[in-house]
Amino acid sequence: MDTRLPIPDIPRVGRSPEILTFGCRLNAYESQVMRELASSGNDDLVIVNTCTVTNAAERQARQAIRRTRRERPGARIVVTGCAAQISPHRFAAMPEVDQVIGNHEKMQTESWAPDADRTTRVRVGSIDDVREAAAHLIAGFETHTRAFVQVQNGCDHRCTFCIIPYGRGPSRSVAPEHVVDQVRLLAEAGVGEVVLSGVDLTAYGEDLPARPLLGSLVRRLLREVPHLPRLRLSSVDPVEIDDDLWTALEHEPRLMPHLHLSLQAGDDVVLKRMKRRHLRDDARAVVERARRVRPDIVFGADLIAGFPTETEEMFAQTLMLVEELDLVYLHVFPYSPRPETPAARMPQLAMTERKVRAARLRAVGARAQRQLLETKIGTVQEVLMEVGDVGRTRDFACVRIEGGAPAGAFLQASVHAVDDDTLIGRPAARATPISPAEDGSTGSTRTKS
Ligand code: SF4
Repeated sequence: MDTRLPIPDIPRVGRSPEILTFGCRLNAYESQVMRELASSGNDDLVIVNTCTVTNAAERQARQAIRRTRRERPGARIVVTGCAAQISPHRFAAMPEVDQVIGNHEKMQTESWAPDADRTTRVRVGSIDDVREAAAHLIAGFETHTRAFVQVQNGCDHRCTFCIIPYGRGPSRSVAPEHVVDQVRLLAEAGVGEVVLSGVDLTAYGEDLPARPLLGSLVRRLLREVPHLPRLRLSSVDPVEIDDDLWTALEHEPRLMPHLHLSLQAGDDVVLKRMKRRHLRDDARAVVERARRVRPDIVFGADLIAGFPTETEEMFAQTLMLVEELDLVYLHVFPYSPRPETPAARMPQLAMTERKVRAARLRAVGARAQRQLLETKIGTVQEVLMEVGDVGRTRDFACVRIEGGAPAGAFLQASVHAVDDDTLIGRPAARATPISPAEDGSTGSTRTKS
């Protein structure tokens, strides 16, 4: 059965809704879907797309709701996202809120139609019953240069600190032919880079007939959308990289040399108490193998500082592993107890200690990032321009281009300095992105000094 969906023709009547997006790339993608679905007959609409990964994320959403009501007294405020999915009545109890919609409901066309049900205050169904990944074709992405494409949703794991599965339900994948249509549409719209996103991205395809795993999806995309300049992966579980993905990493220059690992910690006792599927040695082996097959690869990692029962010695293990593996783009969270999760019932470290450890981890990451950036002085880097005078290299380094360049432009930038966490460069030449023929090139060359 051809599950391909018709190319959307988005009528631009009236003002698109204001959307406040919190959290991850999935929420960013889903906000784009809602922006297109609610583009007519919703002039007064404000959608708050919440996150629940930390207490702080929920607090920020509440503050934004109160501020919006003050600034737009007549607006219709609809709250959705993971925090709304898990605690709908807490948001419905806020006088500022008009309606609470669940994570599945927010992706339904009828939820945003001009004649949609606006009277039922809470429209949040059980996310555990959802088996289909919502398949929408978005026509573009607000940044027009880099687009997040959701290919997988939900999670079947139960890491002891994590509340996400309760907000997003079981793991489910978007059919590969639909992903190809989506990526082709974005590439034709001039998007220079697509980031494949999911809650548990490396679980992609496990629920589909013939189990087309993430690696085969990546290779199919690059084969069937030859005009897509760059493909990037959001985050991967270190021990769930499949063979096709290893092959793509080695042989596909349009697959960016950048892996963001869902590492969380670097101590085996902590990893076991987190119920993660990898240990220190697994992470080390994955990084070493990736560097063998793709020498220009750079790593980021998600890390939790101050997990319950983590001793100073255990934390030192994490620090040492981050340094040893030279992980540069660190997303560090001080542990935040989430309701109903097993870790929330474990003996907790003081919040001050969690924050101190998070700062120490970030400092290690910042040092490694600085060292990486300094190696790029005197080189020419391929840069995809994003907003204003800022763009990104193939390995995700941020670059400020003197004199700026149009958003979406690819250029060769001659790097001559580093300012904090940003490279400083000037255009060396307009570039066409690395083509498949230029196998083995790193997208950077050293300028003749
Ligand atoms: S893999 Fe673990 S951390 Fe990631 S979403 Fe699933 S339960 Fe949460």
